[in-house]
Amino acid sequence: MSTAPKKPKRPSVLTQKLAKLGLTRDIDFVLHFPLRYEDETRLSPVRALQAGSNAQVEGEVVDQVVQYRGRRQLLVHIQDEQGDRLMLRFLHFYGSQLTQLAPGARLRARGQVRRSLQGIEMVHPSYKLITPADPEEKIATAALPTTLTPVYPSTAGVSQAYLSKAIRGALTRVALPALWTAQEAQQWGLQFLDTLSLPPLAEAVAFLHNPPPRVEENALLEHTHPAWMRVKFEELLAQQLSLQQAHAKRRACAAPAMPKCNDPTGNPSSLVVRLLQSLPFTLTSAQQRVQREIEDDLSAAYPMQRLLQGDVGSGKTIVAALAAAQAIEAGYQVAFMAPTDILAEQHYRKLVAWFAPMGVHIVRLSGAMKSKEKRNALESIAFGQAQLVVGTHAIIQNGVEFDYLGLAIVDEQHRFGVTQRLALQAKGQRTQTSEDKANDASMQYPHQLMMSATPIPRTLAMSYYADLDLSTIDTLPPNRSPVRTKLITQARRAEVIERVRAAALAGRQIYWVCPLIEDSEVLELQAAIETFTVLSEALPELTVDLIHGRLSTNEKHEVMEHFIAGHTALLVATTVIEVGVDVPNASLMVIEHAERFGLAQLHQLRGRVGRGEAASVCVLLYAEPLSWTARARLRTMHETHDGFAIAQRDLDLRGPGELLGARQSGAMLLRFADLQKDSALLDAAKRTAMVLLRHAPHVVARHLERWLGAREEYLTT
Ligand code: ADP
Ligand code: MG
Repeated sequence: MSTAPKKPKRPSVLTQKLAKLGLTRDIDFVLHFPLRYEDETRLSPVRALQAGSNAQVEGEVVDQVVQYRGRRQLLVHIQDEQGDRLMLRFLHFYGSQLTQLAPGARLRARGQVRRSLQGIEMVHPSYKLITPADPEEKIATAALPTTLTPVYPSTAGVSQAYLSKAIRGALTRVALPALWTAQEAQQWGLQFLDTLSLPPLAEAVAFLHNPPPRVEENALLEHTHPAWMRVKFEELLAQQLSLQQAHAKRRACAAPAMPKCNDPTGNPSSLVVRLLQSLPFTLTSAQQRVQREIEDDLSAAYPMQRLLQGDVGSGKTIVAALAAAQAIEAGYQVAFMAPTDILAEQHYRKLVAWFAPMGVHIVRLSGAMKSKEKRNALESIAFGQAQLVVGTHAIIQNGVEFDYLGLAIVDEQHRFGVTQRLALQAKGQRTQTSEDKANDASMQYPHQLMMSATPIPRTLAMSYYADLDLSTIDTLPPNRSPVRTKLITQARRAEVIERVRAAALAGRQIYWVCPLIEDSEVLELQAAIETFTVLSEALPELTVDLIHGRLSTNEKHEVMEHFIAGHTALLVATTVIEVGVDVPNASLMVIEHAERFGLAQLHQLRGRVGRGEAASVCVLLYAEPLSWTARARLRTMHETHDGFAIAQRDLDLRGPGELLGARQSGAMLLRFADLQKDSALLDAAKRTAMVLLRHAPHVVARHLERWLGAREEYLTT
């Protein structure tokens, strides 16, 4: 081998595909485990074959026919040692297969056995030639494998044969020594792990890649075999180590401590107390609980990173406002960022109504501001007069400088990417003293509160949001009557329009959501304008208005203002109203082509109604035929209102990658362990992680390297 420095190579297509599967280093290949196995260790005699079972047979080709039955088929008869015959049926085949499968060829075929009119057969078996067809070269039957054949998770363009070979190679190069000796385990107090009776990792890994035949296959498939338990334990250990490390790292950073003011020792005339007293409602017990959690975090001298989850309409905004009050009281600025103009504007109004009477200076920041207005806003932010800044991502743009940002609130955080969240955090980074700028510990970070109405199942949240504390509002404010959801076919659209008329005449307000048109904003806009025209004509006695993404910010404000004031009866809208919009008098929502929307989106949209005391209805208009998943989605919407149940369904239907969106992928999702099913392993991993972090930093580093490699950086941001 040459020792000259290698030129950096451009990654090949294959390398890129492998990287997508998470396979770059040898250890990644070693930890890439089979999805399932095929048993090629046994041959069945043809006479013992049973229809419906999978089997492997070996025999010599005795006959080959190409048949035309609507399409071309290749029928090959083989005969085994006992002289019994089996037909193999190929529906697609290449010319070369005709020569390959000529009489005299010896093959090993594997597939599902089925009964046909002609007797027993295999359709499209996979097969291997044992010897060439030339009888002169006939040699002894090739040896059967002695272990089950793994089938690996893969992607188009990466064959099983390639993966198997690459993994076999990697297995010879990677040693997997135990992370600690028996003596160390004793010393550090890790004996509790003995009760789990986990095999050594090296043994478990070898076993999973090549299990012996007649192993209990279900235990392998369901990941309950001891070998799997070892692997899952190691995976959970990596997760726990990185979580605990990130947590410790955050605690070592500085943040402004903001005294609590809502307890007996607090200031009775504080903003928090006054805000609470000014509300026309009292907080639900769930709101009180999360408010206390946030309050505690803010009073600590290290940065809060908390995700406030709560179903649509659960009342997250007031909880955020109370956090803002605590920060403002302590003398810090607060930034409140929302993903859309409409929502930012709505928050602005709400916050002005709550805070302005108490003399808090609130500034709005949006991309659509006139330059003079914007300059004034930026100035008051930079000089610290602005105590509360509300806006869209305009807040994180260059040129926005805070004087002393102490708390950053991000509403509907799933709409933002990690980078945007970090950018907001960076707005508040300050060095405490100018002398030790280089010293990391001297950096001060703002507290962060993120909010989401797309509840993420806890299992996923824990592995996905590396070091995020979770607060959950799990009940809705009282007096909400649940939204009734009706599934109605497009064919009955006229009836629905009549319903809209009746509701409007009874003083209700209505949203009509236009069909989603994937990938074409233009078509979507057209559809919205058309719907608007049709409905305006059909309902001449009603005030009908239209809102969509192409309107300017000011136009959108105007439309929303009219709707909020009750001047508009029917608001035709695209999904721009999807998040956060809060108009309590709106009690009917029609969603057209509901089958095109995702579950999370439908749930968000439906959350726009049922916010007042009137009984609300959501009509999901759908066009047939429905795909299986569309039907499952609509049924879920009909059956439940619980955002968590819906998120869980969504997860089942789509898998975590899609649920969370590609934008934020890269974090360590558990591949093998399941936080619920493997809770005993999780507890053990948690305890072990604490021990290792205390006693054996070198082991921690080695283990994280093994499991995360380059992926780890995502976890700590
Ligand atoms: P979301 O969690 O979806 O952001 P909002 O904060 O917009 O919900 O709250 C929805 C509505 O419920 C608002 O009109 C809000 O004023 C109202 N609300 C919040 N908390 C309560 C409560 N404890 N009792 C009654 N109404 C409440
Ligand atoms: Mg909200």
